[in-house]
Amino acid sequence: MERCKNCGRYYGEPKKVAVGEKCKFTVTTYDEKTGSIRKASGVTGKLKYIFSNSCYSVEYRKNKYYVDTVAHPDDPSPLTLAFVGRCTCPAK
Ligand SMILES: [Zn+2]
Repeated sequence: MERCKNCGRYYGEPKKVAVGEKCKFTVTTYDEKTGSIRKASGVTGKLKYIFSNSCYSVEYRKNKYYVDTVAHPDDPSPLTLAFVGRCTCPAK
């Protein structure tokens, strides 16, 4: 994806990540008592398996996580993308 010079948001298609390659994803920790999100951090790990286009198995520091979004290392992380947003400027 590219960053728009007008608005600073991202546009274009995200790059595909293949199994065995590095990817960025979000690790979320939940509060055991309330079940609410305690912390979300963007990390770089390895894609282990693709179940569907919204379910991925990834590995980070020997731990296995199941996430709904992964991003190519060249692309903004899912967390960054959610924070910065997608460009809605007229087509270039
Ligand atoms: Zn824009």
